[in-house]
Amino acid sequence: MADCLFCKIVAGEIPAAIVYQDAEVMAFNDINPQAPMHVLVVPRRHIPTLNALTEADDELVGVMTRRAAALAAERGYAERGYRTVFNCGAGAGQTVFHIHLHVLAGRTLTWPPG
Ligand code: AMP
Ligand code: ZN
Repeated sequence: MADCLFCKIVAGEIPAAIVYQDAEVMAFNDINPQAPMHVLVVPRRHIPTLNALTEADDELVGVMTRRAAALAAERGYAERGYRTVFNCGAGAGQTVFHIHLHVLAGRTLTWPPG
């Protein structure tokens, strides 16, 4: 999608600190990290919010989730703990309308989030 920041990162038009990529997903460091590890896992394909997911996306969401777990495990957080977050909609704090799974770790994470 022409005006989408994360589509531009996926296309290589805007630089990002990419930590993983394959045919379906890409992961890069958040530009404004909220924890020592703050990675965003995004699908290459533009999907604006979780509300737009269909049954055909079930495998993709599984791939994103397992990639988040693998990236956290690579950094030694599998047992220490990490948080994964999809914000859906402006009311929940979504600012980039291309779905992305936040992966946060490396500090104490309280609950509930703000
Ligand atoms: P959300 O608020 O859930 O939509 O998350 C969007 C995230 O994208 C925020 O944590 C931003 O810090 C992050 N972000 C915005 N622009 C960039 C960028 N150019 N590269 C990496 N992360 C970004
Ligand atoms: Zn997009």
